[in-house]
Amino acid sequence: MNKTTGAWGEEVAKRLDAMVALRRDFHRHPELSFQEKRTSEIIAERLTRAGLEVKTGIAGQTGVVGILRGDKPGKTIAWRADIDALPLTEILDAPFTSGTKGVMHACGHDGHTAIAITAAEIFSARRAEMPGTAVFIFQPAEELLSGAKPMIEAGVLENPRVDEIYGLHLTTQDAAGTVNVRRGPTMASGDGFNVEVTGKGGHGAYPHLSVDPMTAAAHILIGMQSLVTKEVAAKETVVLSVGQIMAGTKNNIIPDKAVMRGTLRTFDMDVREQLLGRLQSFVSDMARAYRAEARLDLTMGCPPVINPEKETDLVRRCCVDELGEAAVVEGSPVMASDDMSLFLRARPGCYFRVGISPTGDRRVPHHAPEFEMNEDGLPVGLRVALSVLRSRLGA
Ligand SMILES: [Zn+2]
Ligand SMILES: [Zn+2]
Repeated sequence: MNKTTGAWGEEVAKRLDAMVALRRDFHRHPELSFQEKRTSEIIAERLTRAGLEVKTGIAGQTGVVGILRGDKPGKTIAWRADIDALPLTEILDAPFTSGTKGVMHACGHDGHTAIAITAAEIFSARRAEMPGTAVFIFQPAEELLSGAKPMIEAGVLENPRVDEIYGLHLTTQDAAGTVNVRRGPTMASGDGFNVEVTGKGGHGAYPHLSVDPMTAAAHILIGMQSLVTKEVAAKETVVLSVGQIMAGTKNNIIPDKAVMRGTLRTFDMDVREQLLGRLQSFVSDMARAYRAEARLDLTMGCPPVINPEKETDLVRRCCVDELGEAAVVEGSPVMASDDMSLFLRARPGCYFRVGISPTGDRRVPHHAPEFEMNEDGLPVGLRVALSVLRSRLGA
């Protein structure tokens, strides 16, 4: 990559080592959702030192916002970064490998945080020539899809009133050096559900004297798949997966209860509503057919990420100006979810992806102990962040 292409190459090259060191520090000290104490302290400390107005203790304890008012008039533009890690034990052997057993930055949020802090520091140093107001939002608990909502409820888009919001997600699905900008549906909705089936326990030898909740649960599980294929138009994209089934203590005891946990994802709000509404009655009706009872509870939820055309085209233009046409791709939507969608339902903007794939054909998955970031993607992300913010602040 030619570091001097575009307006920000040189500036970013100067800050690169510090940004990578910051990312590695967050990587070494990962913190789970809503427990990002050390992380948020460092964010607040860095932003304060850079001269931003800093608000802490948002969304529980760990959300941070830094406000930077430029000396020239302009819009108010927000940049959102998520800061939490995942409950995994890292297998990578590096000096900055997670020092906390069972916790790991396996989604790249350490990189998001380092990029956003560095962008704030760069703009702060250029405040005299900066138009508008930049609002840097550091959100906890994205991995639970639970951090954006309380941040918005705390008024982070209102005071000052944000006109537009942007953000990026690093991805191992794209090569380092590329940016993936997509109009329209980009990431799926994500709703978690619990199905609790209640029967009547007893001896495995005499099932006719019991009400077996596991048999009912098994039929509910298969039936939910049929619901997707038979009640949703074939052109729609829906995934319904059950990831946990919990029941029983011994091979010859029929238990009282069976619990299933799963996730429902789609790109269309109407389909989402249709299925969430239908699942309630479907689950209880199916259980009743087996003389059991069942209840469905939703445990988390966020709508799909849908990038509006105008702002997405503006981001694309910034990326091309900064990196050149060849570095900018428009990939397919992904079934992963991100509660950035809530910010984008509240304000126009764009959420795009920046490649961090390790070199060669190797594709390591996110949310896995072997996750690994090609740090060559970090300066690309920072350059694009600076370019988007600068252009929207002054627009
Ligand atoms: Zn994630
Ligand atoms: Zn993520």
